[in-house]
Amino acid sequence: MFSRERIELKSLDEVRVMRRAGLVVADALDAVRAAVRPGMTTADLDAVAAKVIADVGATPSFLGYQGFPATVCASVNDEVVHGIPGPRALEVGDVVSVDCGAIVDGWHGDSAVTFVLGPDGPLGLDAAAAPDPADALLVRATEAAMWAGIAALASAQRLNEVGAAVEAAVELAGEAAGVEYGIVEGYVGHGIGSAMHQPPDVVNYRVADRGPRLRPGMCLAIEPMVSRGAGTTRVLDDDWTVVTQDAARAAHWEHTVAILPDGISVLTARDGGAERLAALGVDVVAL
Ligand code: MG
Ligand code: MG
Repeated sequence: MFSRERIELKSLDEVRVMRRAGLVVADALDAVRAAVRPGMTTADLDAVAAKVIADVGATPSFLGYQGFPATVCASVNDEVVHGIPGPRALEVGDVVSVDCGAIVDGWHGDSAVTFVLGPDGPLGLDAAAAPDPADALLVRATEAAMWAGIAALASAQRLNEVGAAVEAAVELAGEAAGVEYGIVEGYVGHGIGSAMHQPPDVVNYRVADRGPRLRPGMCLAIEPMVSRGAGTTRVLDDDWTVVTQDAARAAHWEHTVAILPDGISVLTARDGGAERLAALGVDVVAL
């Protein structure tokens, strides 16, 4: 069913299938984070995610999408999004973003994480443990901005309140860190459901256009991309990899979120987003 803006509204049963796809993506990203070590290639990470998805009989969303050749996007350091997995060997201190999508019974889940790689795997939240603490702060700031955008969905009337919440969170984190982060404006979140990318676009910054009214049945991918530099980007000659123009490092976090009659649920978070959203005063709906 589509509203006048051609936004697909999902039934509760359809959202429950999307939840299954979301948990497959969560499993794939968890497996990647558990496996990753210095010296592994981004193609190795892709194989880890591909196996998780294949083992449960789900389908990767990205493989073959407009010709994309892999299951995940792996974007390292100044790469923002859409990095193609390949022979690049990961090093301690790399900022690694992994984006993954999966399809279950025709319904999609889409999620991304970023971590700083340490000697034994992803470093935790202690910024001081990172070779460059500013990278760890960037990763945390971007994740916090994602959760702020998700939390806004719980009470917002209009879509532009999400971008406003994301931008405010990025500014707040920048002030706390004493830096000015650049929000990447050329790439956006999106509606998601029976296709990976659907209307509406979900920008990560303030806009005057209020956008569509938020309604139960909408499912949205909230995915801020933030850099330590200006945030302007270019695409490499592989026609996929998006890098920052100033070579500043960037981070990307994403979750797929459902708006339901009684609240929201984060379909790609194992706990539905309960822990992180409780800290922001938002209760989630159990599916
Ligand atoms: Mg994604
Ligand atoms: Mg997405």
